[in-house]
Amino acid sequence: MSEHANLLKRHRAVMPGWMALNYEAPIEIAGGKGNRVTDAEGNGYLDFFTGILTNMIGYDVPEVREAVERQLATGVVHTSTAYLLRGQVELAEKIARLSGIPDAKVFFTNSGTEANETALLIAAYARRTDEVLAMRGSYHGRSFGAIGVTGNRAWTNLSYSPLRVHFLHGADRHLPQFAGMDDRAYADACVHDLRHVLAAAAGPDVAALIAEPIQGVGGFTMAPDGLFAAYKEVLDEHGILFISDEVQTGWGRTGQGFFGIENHGVRPDMMTFAKGLGNGFAVGGVVARGDLMDGLHALGLSTFGGNPVSMAAANATLDLVLDRGLQANAARQGETIIGGLRAAAERLAIAADVRGKGLMFAVELADPATGEPSPRLAAAVMEATRERGLLVGKGGLYGNVIRMAPPLTLTDAEAAEGLGILTDSLDHVNEAAA
Ligand code: PLP
Repeated sequence: MSEHANLLKRHRAVMPGWMALNYEAPIEIAGGKGNRVTDAEGNGYLDFFTGILTNMIGYDVPEVREAVERQLATGVVHTSTAYLLRGQVELAEKIARLSGIPDAKVFFTNSGTEANETALLIAAYARRTDEVLAMRGSYHGRSFGAIGVTGNRAWTNLSYSPLRVHFLHGADRHLPQFAGMDDRAYADACVHDLRHVLAAAAGPDVAALIAEPIQGVGGFTMAPDGLFAAYKEVLDEHGILFISDEVQTGWGRTGQGFFGIENHGVRPDMMTFAKGLGNGFAVGGVVARGDLMDGLHALGLSTFGGNPVSMAAANATLDLVLDRGLQANAARQGETIIGGLRAAAERLAIAADVRGKGLMFAVELADPATGEPSPRLAAAVMEATRERGLLVGKGGLYGNVIRMAPPLTLTDAEAAEGLGILTDSLDHVNEAAA
């Protein structure tokens, strides 16, 4: 048995079956440089998913490596929220400023799940209720609270949540009466539904609405521009807080606005973040209005949250994103690739939709004969891109969406290369499906 096959066998023996690995023959990533990785067998790939949007500025970035090495050289990997940590304060100052939230304060966690759990806790404390609003098709993490507000059955097949949750329309348009509606009419219908939920279904006090500006795991689906602004007006009438889950959409990825919610012209009360900020090192957190953050009348502690090594990596990553203007790069490269994919989709019977903003874009696959979502075709496209040297992600409520979120450092040549591989792979699968 090959070394690789043996590792896979050992993985299957000791790791949970629900840890789904990508590809028929799962890959062991052995190295990375720039926006490319190499597997243990020596094959190179351009990476359009970077873990799960984790290495947002690529691999082996000198600025990040040096910052981490400098921190390690101090001998201080001293982790506790009970002492002053310079890196924490510096990063919190930057995030508070960038957030646009007045008098913002920041609490660091180790993951997006914990960040959302904390935000929900803050909201529940502030509003003295555990009743919340969330979006159909959403994904917010694996804890009981985060699963409770997750509207995607693949992740939340539970009948119990510690929160009382009402799910709203926004990113999904599957009801026949929504088909063919323009964005404006659909947004109006959603707002009407929100008012109905608040008048007839929810209790007198609701803590918060939690929403992803672009649903990540849900398949990069989007509420129409303007919907969250319209929701926010209604929420403000009731004093209900707005939590924007920026775990996938933060740091300029969508090109327009440094945080995804800026695409909707909304200033949220809280934002949660994780994934790319540490460029591979674990860092997440919540940025919230100071009064809300301080209103959590309980001692807050996270043993590893905000640890010095993650803070060093995150400060270096964020500085590089800002210094190099990577938000503008995301907008530019995204426009090229999304435009190219849309042009290709016109000749592809299997492509039901191409959507995205900046460097967060997706192709949805459907059976050309029936129009039904096709996870089988999505799997075939994944295999085809891998064979041609490109890594992508998969998702969507039916597992039929190819999701891509290349590093924000993507160059013109890499954008062209990735687009070429994608269109070639889609053509190949389309031909086989005809
Ligand atoms: N929120 C969103 C929007 C996510 O996409 C994810 C993870 O995919 C999470 C929260 C959970 O983050 P983590 O896996 O770091 O706990």
